[in-house]
Amino acid sequence: MFKFLTYLKLKNKNWERLSPNSRINIFQQIENFEAKRQGREPMKVIEKNFEDNMQGLCDKKSGKIYLSIGFFKKKYMQFWGLTVLFHEGRHAFQQEEVFENEKPNIFSKVYKWRKNLQGYVHYNDKEKFSYYAMQDVERDANKYALKRLIKLRFWLKNEKGFFETIKSKQDELDSQVHIAKKELGPLYKLKVKLRNKKERDK
Ligand SMILES: [Zn+2]
Repeated sequence: MFKFLTYLKLKNKNWERLSPNSRINIFQQIENFEAKRQGREPMKVIEKNFEDNMQGLCDKKSGKIYLSIGFFKKKYMQFWGLTVLFHEGRHAFQQEEVFENEKPNIFSKVYKWRKNLQGYVHYNDKEKFSYYAMQDVERDANKYALKRLIKLRFWLKNEKGFFETIKSKQDELDSQVHIAKKELGPLYKLKVKLRNKKERDK
């Protein structure tokens, strides 16, 4: 199978002709490609009507990635949906790597992810946003999602919404650093690590 044929379905004129179900199937195919390139099990992609402003969720135990239903219904949202798919797929990869490497090298990413996942800070109103957004697994998943989207520019560069999404994602990454400096001060990296440790020690 040529992967680019699947990516071309994301072009606005093609996407608009597809039913919501076929759109989910396209995302499922992309998740299957992702799983293969990362050497992990594919997750099942499921649409979800989130009650809060959540956009996606990776539930590794049940093997499911939930994505906000808006990505399959609203115009020009497929590219943002794709970044969320890449983000959640990266979480599946992180968790599989941590599970498979019992004694990772202390300088490796897997080591950082392991520490982080042992004291993962969930997103909620009571928590400072930066403690959630700046933890290792979230930063890594966001950077990865942006990188993957940029890789698809050859096929999708002329599409309305595509470069806008890349820009929003880059802006999001930058603004998270600004927010962290504001919320936690110049030592924000250390503070995020300490918050993570506190969660781990609970
Ligand atoms: Zn995440």
